This record gives sequence, structure tokens and C-alpha cells, in this order.
Amino acid sequence: MSAVVMDGKALAAKVKEQVRQKAEKLSRRPGLAVIIVGDNPASRVYVNGKKKDCEECGFYSEEHALPGTAAQEELLELIAALNERGDIDGIMVQLPLPGQFNEQEVLRAIRTDKDVDCFHPYNVGKLMIGEKGFLPCTPAGVMRMLEEYGVDVAGKHCVVVGRSNIVGKPQSILMLQKHATVTICHSRTPDLAEQCRRADILVAAVGKVGLITADMVKEGAVVVDVAMNRNEQGKLCGDVCYEEVTKKASYITPVPGGVGPMTRAMLMENTLYAAVNHGK
Ligand code: NAP
Repeated sequence: MSAVVMDGKALAAKVKEQVRQKAEKLSRRPGLAVIIVGDNPASRVYVNGKKKDCEECGFYSEEHALPGTAAQEELLELIAALNERGDIDGIMVQLPLPGQFNEQEVLRAIRTDKDVDCFHPYNVGKLMIGEKGFLPCTPAGVMRMLEEYGVDVAGKHCVVVGRSNIVGKPQSILMLQKHATVTICHSRTPDLAEQCRRADILVAAVGKVGLITADMVKEGAVVVDVAMNRNEQGKLCGDVCYEEVTKKASYITPVPGGVGPMTRAMLMENTLYAAVNHGK
């Protein structure tokens, strides 16, 4: 038996089309400002992708590219100016920033109603207590995909491998809010394989090629691979040994074409949400 492949690319296209239709009804186009600092090639690919998504959704977008040598102050001034702009609903800073930046200070400078990545501590706090607001893009994309494929997380045992602020922690919170029993694993978890085998739904968000092997997966489990790694051949891949795990899982996400496109689609949803809240 082979798992059902959860097609993030197709679902993301559907979500973006829904966003486009809703945006069309607003009196003014939602606007997203994307800030990129330095010349990290991966960041450039992500930023170009976001511009394309904005076009598809009928949004206004603008890019601000700062040199890798830019100072913290320069970036903070740019964010302060964007915070005041009526045509900009969302501001996102492509991470990682070069070493001289204080990332946390930068993220806190974004006005909370324009924080479409949901990285500001205020919005993270709202998420924690279950108040309506922005949802972090990657974990929200995972939840949407599970929902779309009819995977109910309520009462399930979800094991999230990874505890970063961007993926692992918020993923766990969203699953908990949907009434899952959640185990969070990380680099100090003594027997990762044993923990993973207990999962009805396993989310891998580490960044290590080949970490999740078939013997770590329960028969019929749902497997979500968040990671984006390059293997020895330079090919994009996740944490999960796809070929062997797909034979055991009931549902699985591919890399590429799984969580990645959903993350991008959720950024568009958040920008629309911001625009609606700004009364457009
Ligand atoms: P991160 O900040 O580096 O966090 C990695 C997490 O994995 C940490 O919590 C770490 O534990 C844990 N870990 C490391 N080695 C481990 C091991 N051997 N066993 C168990 N846990 C281990 O990474 P991230 O930002 O969360 O990203 C994770 C992956 O997702 C990366 O591949 C990234 O590229 C990808 N990603 C994809 C998307 C998307 O849209 N698809 C979005 C964001 C990130 P400690 O906390 O103990 O160090």
C-alpha cells in the first residue's frame, strides 16, 4: 500500500484563487512589503516567489532590497516608514538576516497589525491563548492541508519533531488547539524513534536529510515533512525517507510540493486578513 500524497502545490493554488476572489471585492488592493537584506540565494528565491504569489492574488507588492552591509538602524527606519503607510497592509522581513542584525528587535519593530509572518511576540502570545489573529504561515499551512485531506487531529497523538519558534512550537500549539495530544521532540529527546512510532500524525521539522526512516513510523500514520534540505546530489528533500515511509504511511507530504507552497499561500491569507482589518 502506498500513502495518499497530500498535494500542497494544488491546494495552494486553490487557496490563492480564493484569496484573489476575496481581495477583488475590497475597495483597494491589499499591499505587501517584502524586505530582503544581503544576497542569500535561497532568500532571493523565496522573495521572488512571494512577489509572484502577490501578482496571482491581485495584491500590490513592493520589494526593499538592502545591501548585506546595511546597519540595524537603517532597517528599523525602513520598517518604521512602512508601518505608517496606508497602502501597505503587511510587512515581512526575509530571514535569516546577516549576522550584524538583532533579528528579534527587527521583528518587534513591525507593527502588530502588519505582522503577516506572525513573528511578533504580541501575535505569538495571542496564538498561545487562542485569540483570533494572524496564524504562523508554515504551521497554518500544515493544518489547512490536513483539514483538506480529511485528517482530523482531535484526539490523535501528534508528534512534532523540532521546537523552533517558526515551526515546531507554533505547530504544536495549533494541534493542541484542535484537541490533539501533542509530544514535542528535539535534539535532546533520548529515543526519537520510539517517540515517533507512537504518532498518529508525525510532523518532521528539523532540517536533517534521512532523519525519519520507515522503522520510526507507525503503520497507517499521517506523515508531514516540513523540512527543506538539499541531499548530496543537491536535490531538494525533506527529513523523511520518502520512498520507504510512503509504503507505511496513510497520508504523506512530498518535498518539494508539500508544505512549502502552503506556507506561501498562508502568507497571502494573512495579508488579505490584514487588509480586511485595515478596512479596505
Ligand atoms: P531550526 O530552527 O534549525 O530548528 C530545528 C529543530 O530541530 C530544533 O528544535 C532542534 O532541536 C531540532 N533537532 C535538531 N536535530 C535533531 C535531531 N537529531 N533529533 C530531533 N530534533 C532535532 O529549524 P526550523 O526553522 O524550525 O526549520 C526546520 C526545517 O523546516 C528546515 O529544514 C527548514 O528549511 C524547514 N522549513 C520549511 C518551511 C516550509 O515552508 N516548508 C518553513 C520553515 C522552515 P533543538 O531545539 O534542541 O536544537
